[in-house]
Amino acid sequence: MGMSPDVPSGLTVVEAIEQLRSQGHRDDFSIVDGAVRCGRCGHAHPAEDLVVTAVLRVEGASDPADEAIVAGLACAACQAKGVLVAGYGPTEDPSEAAVLWRLGGSNPGT
Ligand SMILES: [Zn+2]
Repeated sequence: MGMSPDVPSGLTVVEAIEQLRSQGHRDDFSIVDGAVRCGRCGHAHPAEDLVVTAVLRVEGASDPADEAIVAGLACAACQAKGVLVAGYGPTEDPSEAAVLWRLGGSNPGT
């Protein structure tokens, strides 16, 4: 279904976010201290507690190393659907990488 993080989506970050917004992901998630924080209820969840509804991999237009993952998530506490944008690739934050690994099941280190 084109949801694999191993396949570039061909979208920019902005386009990927717009696509998820159009699919009902109206809230925002962020990675805080290795957990994923829901922007609606404020709970910080272990990545494995969240439902991943979509994963889009974005490659940098000018720099291929400037990759990101734009993920659609559903909060386990308040059921909000939202968007998480995280770095992916050589410049990523190691803690983000750990969270992404648990979210998407792909290994960002290879
Ligand atoms: Zn929530």
